[in-house]
Amino acid sequence: MQILNELYSGKAKSVFNTDDQDRLVLHFRDDTSAFDGEKKESLARKGMVNNKFNAFIMTKLEQAGIPTHFEELLSDDQSLVKRLDMIPVECVVRNIAAGSICRRLGVKEGLDLNPPTFEFFLKNDELHDPMINDYHIRAFGWASEEEVARMKELTFQVNDILKKLFSDAGLLLVDYKLEFGRFHGGLVLGDEFTPDGCRLWDAQTREKLDKDRFRQNLGNVIEAYEEVARRLGVDLS
Ligand code: C5P
Repeated sequence: MQILNELYSGKAKSVFNTDDQDRLVLHFRDDTSAFDGEKKESLARKGMVNNKFNAFIMTKLEQAGIPTHFEELLSDDQSLVKRLDMIPVECVVRNIAAGSICRRLGVKEGLDLNPPTFEFFLKNDELHDPMINDYHIRAFGWASEEEVARMKELTFQVNDILKKLFSDAGLLLVDYKLEFGRFHGGLVLGDEFTPDGCRLWDAQTREKLDKDRFRQNLGNVIEAYEEVARRLGVDLS
């Protein structure tokens, strides 16, 4: 397999074409951004930690029956994935209130959400990723009714699998964001699952061990990601 030209460069990852029409290479960079790209920094080791963290989680999900785009680790900061036709929406499940739901609904951070909530957001930085619902997705043709149902089903299945995985490592899965795409007629989990796209708290102290450390200037961002990786048993060597 040969890595070809860069197809797309995002805020924290770059995507490369390969000589296989159905495969892409993800390059996890050290760049970190928040607030629609307003706050930016380069954090040493981040690309490596997130690449290996993502590989670990995607493999666990695949083993538990979730179709994912992950194929294999290629290097410290590169992974081979399936080329998906991405659906431009973000699927967010929350087990505990934090972040935007607190601002939008005036609820206190830390409130248990029972049942967990599900929200769709449109991927659009210029519009600040507005919240949308099933009807917008269908009316604007971003996905079909069946695809909407499947995204919800898979996103909740991921919650069951990962809540347990993190809880066994002494961590609370507060919330997370998933993105899906089409591959040969089926829906497949794409993008990444790393502490950049979820909230993880220490189960005892509720210390934040995710990207909120960057957003809120709490320091030790990558140290926290490495601590989560260590507790899960992710090989960062
Ligand atoms: O900001 P908000 O509270 O809505 O985020 C919910 C979850 O989705 C958080 O874990 C956050 O890191 C993730 N998220 C993301 N990318 C976005 C928006 C949210 O990974 N563009």
